[in-house]
Amino acid sequence: MRFLPIFLNIENKDCLVVGGGEVAARKLEMLLKANAQVRLVARELCEEVRLLVNEGKLKHIGQHYQEALLENCVLVIAATDNEQLNREISEQAQLRQLPVNVVDNPALCSFIMPSVIDRYPVQIAISTGGASPVLARLLRARLETMIPSTFGRLASLMQSVRARIRVQIPDMRQRRRFWEDILHGPVAELLYSGQEQAALSVLEKRLEHPEANTPDQGEVYLVGGGPGDPDLLTFRALRLMQQADVVLYDRLVAPAIVELVRKDAERIYVGKQRDQHAMSQQDINALLVKLATEGKRVLRLKGGDPFIFGRGGEEIETLAAQGIAFQVVPGITAAVGCAAYAGIPLTHRDYAQSCVFITGHLQQGKLILNWSGLIQPGQTIAVYMGVGAAKVLCDELVKHGMDAQTPVAIIQQGTTIHQRTYIGTLKTMPDIIENKDIQPPSMLIIGEVVRLREKLAWYDTTRQV
Ligand code: SAH
Repeated sequence: MRFLPIFLNIENKDCLVVGGGEVAARKLEMLLKANAQVRLVARELCEEVRLLVNEGKLKHIGQHYQEALLENCVLVIAATDNEQLNREISEQAQLRQLPVNVVDNPALCSFIMPSVIDRYPVQIAISTGGASPVLARLLRARLETMIPSTFGRLASLMQSVRARIRVQIPDMRQRRRFWEDILHGPVAELLYSGQEQAALSVLEKRLEHPEANTPDQGEVYLVGGGPGDPDLLTFRALRLMQQADVVLYDRLVAPAIVELVRKDAERIYVGKQRDQHAMSQQDINALLVKLATEGKRVLRLKGGDPFIFGRGGEEIETLAAQGIAFQVVPGITAAVGCAAYAGIPLTHRDYAQSCVFITGHLQQGKLILNWSGLIQPGQTIAVYMGVGAAKVLCDELVKHGMDAQTPVAIIQQGTTIHQRTYIGTLKTMPDIIENKDIQPPSMLIIGEVVRLREKLAWYDTTRQV
């Protein structure tokens, strides 16, 4: 190990920075985050640094560096574009045993600055020993996605009750088990999902009976898996997929997404509505309650977004009624995913000022929709579950006054490598659907915005299939 990793307390201490450009700005930002008293020497200030000076966050004490400025400093950073000057600062600082960093010149540094993941009070610092800052940044980006942004709140909460726990559970091994339970159980997850009060009350309950070996009540994560491309999952969805004990999913969830679930999690296929072997909605609701009551972390994985034509609302109503902890993780809904991957902006200043999401689900062969609301000019209509009813839908829209030449797109298996898009009009779309052997899931987008695809199409799957 060439460098000793340490965390330095520079709060209210004098630090000197020489240089006022963009690289200096990055260092200044870090020093200010650590509440240092920063003095800056620079001939020119970039916009960002000027702003910091104007806001009074640091003192611009002069244009020219002199050795006397090192007096009373605890740390020095040289970030000028004058190599000779940088060298001079480094030598003078090191003679005084002052830690010095010269930007982009490890040979002149007595310390280097890491890439930092900040989840205050938790900090993770990464260094490649100066070998490759790009690699450090890449690592940092990976870790950023894995560590919930509210991780620090958990640490603060633990800190606030630490002394109390030490008294209450004097045995060290028992205490460690207690903390592990807290970290892996609902307290942590409630905090991450922003339910601070609930987290506190679960913690309080555990503190009342710290030795009790009763398993926690389980919890349910209602998670949107997006339209198909696994890259469109949210960080939170992925994290929960990797910690769930059991996963309930239906046909709409792309296999590539189910693949990402923790390998030893139990997977339960609950089919989909029209599937003959499907579980009824009531059975699914009851199963969620049963599994959570057994103490399991249950992930209900849905295609797209759980609250858009996904019956997510009904599922959590049952949970709420039974007092079972749950959280909802939004996903990219099919309309949004398909539109993006088909090059069709759902709104556009010139073509559409609003967009409605409707379902084309037939009720006894009929579509019950607010037709006058739908035929408004300057409005895009995204139709879920609309392939079977496409003919009825297109005919009715024309009958109610929409131009038969209004463009319509059908997007099959949007965002996946099987995506296919066909363009027609209200008049021609029913025939296109009949002739093209459209595979589910597919959706329709109706409106002038469809014309933009000619210019904006970008996602090309023909090479990959
Ligand atoms: N909750 C889901 C929608 C469920 S309804 C969401 O927010 O996306 C199911 C309908 O969604 C399908 O019939 C189809 O119209 C549409 N759909 C879902 N995924 C799709 C995809 N990848 N491509 C095209 N349409 C899709």
